[in-house]
Amino acid sequence: MKNSPWKELISITDDFDEVYIYGFGIAGKWLQLQLSSSNKVICFVESDDKKAGHQFNGTIVNSYKELSSSLKKKKTSINKSLLINTCVDINDIWDKAGDLGISKQIPLGLYLNDFPLCDVSEETSDFVNYTLAAVKESHKSYFIEKGLFLRSIDVLVTERCSMKCQDCSNLMQYYEKPKNIDRSRIINEIQEILSKLDHLFEIRLIGGEPFLNPDIYEIINFATGLESVSYVVLYTNATVKLDKDRLLTSSRNFNKLSFSITDYGEKLSRQLPQVKVLLDELQITYRIHLPEWWTDSGSIININRTEQELKELFQNCCGKNLFTLSDNKLYRCPFAANADRLNGVPHDTDNYVLVSEDREKIISYVGDIDYIPACRFCKGRSWDTPQIVPAIQTRKPITYKKY
Ligand code: SF4
Ligand code: SF4
Repeated sequence: MKNSPWKELISITDDFDEVYIYGFGIAGKWLQLQLSSSNKVICFVESDDKKAGHQFNGTIVNSYKELSSSLKKKKTSINKSLLINTCVDINDIWDKAGDLGISKQIPLGLYLNDFPLCDVSEETSDFVNYTLAAVKESHKSYFIEKGLFLRSIDVLVTERCSMKCQDCSNLMQYYEKPKNIDRSRIINEIQEILSKLDHLFEIRLIGGEPFLNPDIYEIINFATGLESVSYVVLYTNATVKLDKDRLLTSSRNFNKLSFSITDYGEKLSRQLPQVKVLLDELQITYRIHLPEWWTDSGSIININRTEQELKELFQNCCGKNLFTLSDNKLYRCPFAANADRLNGVPHDTDNYVLVSEDREKIISYVGDIDYIPACRFCKGRSWDTPQIVPAIQTRKPITYKKY
């Protein structure tokens, strides 16, 4: 009898002496827990240099760069080694991971059927399941269906925020007269872009603070009713009290809805207790995290870079697949979307693709491009950028050069 895909993965690992796990996210940690009894897992591999040296359940994280040079030095020892790739952005990572020279690489997502679930550190098994579903769908789409699958689209629902972080990577600190985005406009844009995609794993409703848009509950209602979207995530700073009655009637499907809550501390995220109690009561999944891993990526600054430098900046940018919907346009990242809204970069049609464009043009834009013109004005978000103190507040909007 044929093994289930998950059992097949376990039996593949039996054929190897050493196992490497690409990705130190929830999926990578979950996999380490499943394989820990075999004692074969050598390390996690991470594109993000900042995670190097971290540990999980006794397994250390090596940066891609470090591992690449150490493996090159001792080539003979990696013949019976297996690399299991757990990254959702598989199109970016697959070839790069293959260059490590480990004898075989397999994508975790193709083996995720009938797998065991468990909590991973502070993440509940529900959230682990959600993360593994994203890995499964992205790997299936990339390797089998070859359709147009996007992991996520950030939908800008407001320029307003109840906070003004001077280094906000969504550039909220620059808006002088921030406004909400019209609900019907948002709905039309989402419908139009979805008509060009085969599947979208996640719509992320972002701002600013999405709950400052009074139509947010209707927008949630619309988004959670979409068949070709697996999940809808609200990104909130917990400064705004949730309206229980409106939330109750807002979602057509609470299983599709989740909250990503940044906890900025008692003084700022003062509604966190209310938000938490309500989400618990309604059994809506949420994840609370501290403002971590901030880098200096909120400056709009014209940097004179060569073509080669621009290509490298884009290649190494962890924000380049944060597709963002704004003004009937799909952008590669929130920086480009907001810098364009603010006229902080010269207008250039290569910064985006119109949602009304045909599927081929959209495929080409979300695929393997060299960079976008907005990258000239951005410090970038590479994995090795130093961290900064998060969430320093500015009283007044920050001034910038307008084009
Ligand atoms: S980083 Fe700060 S300013 Fe930006 S959206 Fe979040 S809370 Fe608002
Ligand atoms: S470097 Fe380019 S892709 Fe990356 S965040 Fe900046 S503008 Fe966006």
